[in-house]
Amino acid sequence: MTRIEDISTPRRTKEIISRHGFSFKKSLGQNFLIDQNILYKIVEAANLSKDKGALEIGPGIGALTEKLAQTAGTVTAVEIDQRLIPILQEVLEPYPNVKVHHGDVLKVDLKELFRTNFGDVTKVSVVANLPYYVTTPILMRLLEEKLPLENIVVMIQKEVAVRMAASPGSKDYGSLSIAVQYYSEPKLVCTVPHTVFIPQPNVESAVIRLQVRDKPPVEVDDESHFFEVIQASFAQRRKTIANNLKVRFFPGEGRERLEQLLQEAEIDPSRRGETLSIEEYARLSRVFLKAGIR
Ligand code: SAM
Repeated sequence: MTRIEDISTPRRTKEIISRHGFSFKKSLGQNFLIDQNILYKIVEAANLSKDKGALEIGPGIGALTEKLAQTAGTVTAVEIDQRLIPILQEVLEPYPNVKVHHGDVLKVDLKELFRTNFGDVTKVSVVANLPYYVTTPILMRLLEEKLPLENIVVMIQKEVAVRMAASPGSKDYGSLSIAVQYYSEPKLVCTVPHTVFIPQPNVESAVIRLQVRDKPPVEVDDESHFFEVIQASFAQRRKTIANNLKVRFFPGEGRERLEQLLQEAEIDPSRRGETLSIEEYARLSRVFLKAGIR
């Protein structure tokens, strides 16, 4: 029996694309992977095994899906582009543990999808080469929905990966770093050259792993208030935390009350938002709530 070449080899990818007359849509972030080593690195970072599940977002023509099918017990791939569905059905035919779902990952009922497709599987990873135009909304949705996820391993724009993993005090640290780190522990896996994609994207790429936390690293009484305090603190990066918070929480008032509450939270009013740790934001939100500041 002749062994079929992997989907992701440049030769097989080109053959599939031309046989189906497929044309790439830039608006859907379609940059397909054609490098075995990168694919193996992504799959390895997810720490999969046959008793685990994998959710892939945007399978394209199935380059990564094939590797996931060989490693995980069960795989669900959500693809928005209807033109890719018959291609996926054809190329993934040898893998009965893969289900392809046609839909927009920002709109599908993820809880329902998990119930029907993963059932009793308690450890699920999200593994994807994400469409860059929707990276942040997709990742925030996955994290906020509190799905039974073990980790999320994704190829994203390098600049966004660096921001997600940034520590307080660095120029890349901001509300995105805090939101991601509240739900997970991020780790940059590797940076990736343009040459591993067709067509090649015009931004730099990186693989990041978000190890999903069982519970947040800080005590927060009201999550939406906590995130509002953070948003407000970064409203204008060059301003001090006191000046930013005043605009949102104390408009038209003097500074005395605000400074008193900052003092109570042990935060110097002249600091900037980018220097505060996640613990300090949690403390600030608790002090504000106790004083009835919403
Ligand atoms: N996984 C493939 C690979 O690595 O070769 C393709 C990755 S490509 C960067 C992104 C894929 O996401 C495309 O197949 C695109 O059609 C799909 N996509 C874009 N927006 C989507 C959305 N909102 N929901 C689901 N899939 C989406």
